[in-house]
Amino acid sequence: MKAFASSADLADKEQTLEVLADGVYALTAEGDPNVGAIEGDDFLVCFEAMATPVAARGWLARLREHTHKPVRYLVLSHYHAVRVLGASAFGADVIIAHDSTRALIAERGLQDWESELGRMPRLFRDPSSIPGLTWPTVTFADRLTIHLGGGRGELALAYCGRGHTEGDIVAWLPRQRILFAGDLVEAQAALYTGDAFHAEWASGTLDAVAALGAESLIGGRGAVARGRAEVDAAIGQSRDFLETMRARVGAVHAGGGTLRDAFEAAHAALAPRYGRWPIFEHCMPFNVSRLWDELSGIERPVIWTAERDREVWAQLRD
Ligand SMILES: [Zn+2]
Repeated sequence: MKAFASSADLADKEQTLEVLADGVYALTAEGDPNVGAIEGDDFLVCFEAMATPVAARGWLARLREHTHKPVRYLVLSHYHAVRVLGASAFGADVIIAHDSTRALIAERGLQDWESELGRMPRLFRDPSSIPGLTWPTVTFADRLTIHLGGGRGELALAYCGRGHTEGDIVAWLPRQRILFAGDLVEAQAALYTGDAFHAEWASGTLDAVAALGAESLIGGRGAVARGRAEVDAAIGQSRDFLETMRARVGAVHAGGGTLRDAFEAAHAALAPRYGRWPIFEHCMPFNVSRLWDELSGIERPVIWTAERDREVWAQLRD
């Protein structure tokens, strides 16, 4: 059996802080989850919280080399543990997420925490520093605007439809044309779709992301996409990954094959283009399992637990 999920991925990644425009920061890390920050006149908006407070403090130390403004807003793109459980390190006045993200944390936050800790132990730097689940204090359904002040324009938080989860949001700077896309778009990293709505993500949701017309894009993982060609490539790659999975898993499902057959078919179709990218092998069993459910008419993703993770892994990867 292949090593479970990312449990054998123990080598630290190099973190790179980039200043994308005046007061706009992105920290990427060779395929580990990306984070960002945007300066207001006298405050900061941070985007994503990392997996633990200790991990987040490393990012904040880098950010403090550029600005000492206090963190007023912490924006969470979705509920996944590696994005939210470091929140306490930010000391934010307000934690913002989609309505559905707060509901998902209530419904499955504890199970997701246990699942992700088992799948990606390296990201959970000092897990004992996590004080508990992260609870958004302001939620919204469609759009929320933060006025940055001081001639800096605005930051638009927007829901583009169901995709990577039921409640993903993006952070968009219309003046600077910079988009923090969360896990709806990956740049040269595999997609995780174990909690996804594949059909909607691949169509209307990615259409809405593309329609913003970003000139720089920070995806959930991978390098910053700079310029329209790289932005289009990242969105196109994400759509192709989803469409290839839907075609291959769909054909096996319609033809009366097994989940295992579907996994083999999707893996074979995706591996030539995506097999060397971060977390590909980790994601595929969970991705195909969820897509199989979606094709079977199971509306909402089944909750992943540490136990179910191991069962699916054993079924598809032994
Ligand atoms: Zn995620």
